[in-house]
Amino acid sequence: MTFTIAVVGRPNVGKSTLFNRLVGKKIAIVDDTPGVTRDRREAQGSIADLEFRVFDTAGLEEGEPGSLSDRMRRQTQQALNEADIALMLYDARAGVTPMDEHFAQWLRRGDKPVILVANKCEGNAIVDGIYEAYTLGLGEPIGLSAEHGEGLAELYRAIVESL
Ligand code: GDP
Ligand code: MG
Repeated sequence: MTFTIAVVGRPNVGKSTLFNRLVGKKIAIVDDTPGVTRDRREAQGSIADLEFRVFDTAGLEEGEPGSLSDRMRRQTQQALNEADIALMLYDARAGVTPMDEHFAQWLRRGDKPVILVANKCEGNAIVDGIYEAYTLGLGEPIGLSAEHGEGLAELYRAIVESL
């Protein structure tokens, strides 16, 4: 069985870092500047024996703070249309922002299963950011560190349950 995952969320939450980790190569550009991934990227990814196609998404942050730019919206929508599962990342260190709420609201209106991922959770240090995420209405978040490769076993289980 083959399936497709779209990694979505506001700029700078670690989407490209997770994409690179799933793909096992540095394909996506990771940068401290929000929104540097201009184009959607696609590759074969895996977690242990689970193999899938994965999209990295982004877009330039051109809109008002707290809103989604048209470009970000279009690109994310296109990836979602082609995906079987969306991984919505947010930054557990920064906490839930208005843009995360916009993303969540939009994803809840769609028909694809969404796995909420609290990124930047290395060392299980970010407890507040995890509880805050319940307000997004996407269920229990999975604590992950894309940079350090922590939480992938839980992500694996969540993906398998969503299929
Ligand atoms: P994107 O804009 O959502 O694609 O985010 P990037 O993958 O480009 O990452 C944005 C910033 O967050 C970079 O400085 C990354 O090194 C950092 N980052 C990504 N994942 C983690 C993580 O798990 N922990 C920490 N502390 N930083 C991370
Ligand atoms: Mg990126």
